[in-house]
Amino acid sequence: MHSISYERARDVAHAIELGSTPGSKFIGGGTNLLDLYKSGVERPVRLIDVSRIALNGIERLPDGGVRIGAMASNTQAANHPLVRTPYRVLSEAILNGASAQLRNMATVGGNLLQRTRCYYFTDPAFKQCNKREPGSGCAALDGFNRIHAILGASDACIATNPSDMAVALVALDAGVRLAGPEGERTLPVAEFHRLPGDEPQFDSVIRQGELIMAIDLPPSAFAARSHYLKVRDRASYAFALVSVAVALDLQDGAVRDLRLVLGGVAHKPWRALEAEDVLRGQALGEEVIKRAAAAAVAGAQPRQHNAFKVELAQRAIVRALHSAGGIA
Ligand code: SF4
Repeated sequence: MHSISYERARDVAHAIELGSTPGSKFIGGGTNLLDLYKSGVERPVRLIDVSRIALNGIERLPDGGVRIGAMASNTQAANHPLVRTPYRVLSEAILNGASAQLRNMATVGGNLLQRTRCYYFTDPAFKQCNKREPGSGCAALDGFNRIHAILGASDACIATNPSDMAVALVALDAGVRLAGPEGERTLPVAEFHRLPGDEPQFDSVIRQGELIMAIDLPPSAFAARSHYLKVRDRASYAFALVSVAVALDLQDGAVRDLRLVLGGVAHKPWRALEAEDVLRGQALGEEVIKRAAAAAVAGAQPRQHNAFKVELAQRAIVRALHSAGGIA
């Protein structure tokens, strides 16, 4: 029997103090961690309940941006008037994630920390998984890798990040505020998750004892003309095979600047910088959109069962740009 202790943190300082011990894990909504605990994938020795800490506010920042507290539920964040229309791509991404019941429980901070849904990771009956057991190998490399990465993978791991919300946050140049034993720091969400390299056991750069405090959305010239498109096997409660977050700053029909980010294709939200370069300064039209879509996946390295994602990603990019750009 695996024994586990439970403590409720009074405030942020208390949470950091309790969470700094190796083997401790913070728990907010618990919608991913408890599943992984029950299946034996996660084995914390101490759960630190941070759900009662007052970090669930959503407020306007002095610079005109918006701060979303890490303990705000996914539902609160998606439907808040400061988010729903002004940061449309974020609201759409969150509402495309999970089920309504899960969105009511899951927190914004926890959304960023959810773990891959690679079949070989979530089922300990499979012994080869470098993410679960470093050095054990990767069963997905020559296994059923239909949902796996086509960009940025390594020979150690080809898993994808499952978060819809994170993809939209990268498109919005959002920041994540962290507090830990060494103080506070703010990182771009684009730098929060990492590629697998030789250490796929680490999904992000968060350190032991660090607590996500909030997400900061900057005032954005992109946000108003933005869209999240998710392609999945069924209409709800499914993870993205491919998703696209696009945010456009258009002037006189030309793209002054943009963000184009893919989900479901890599170990982290994948910013398609080459595609952005193709589109920047151009009038949005069929030819340039298709060229951008091709540029986005030029470096793809598909596996046996996921080559379809290369074509699917391009089609999703074309459709998302049409929607965000108001092209019929
Ligand atoms: Fe594990 Fe990553 Fe391989 Fe999946 S892809 S089996 S998570 S190492």
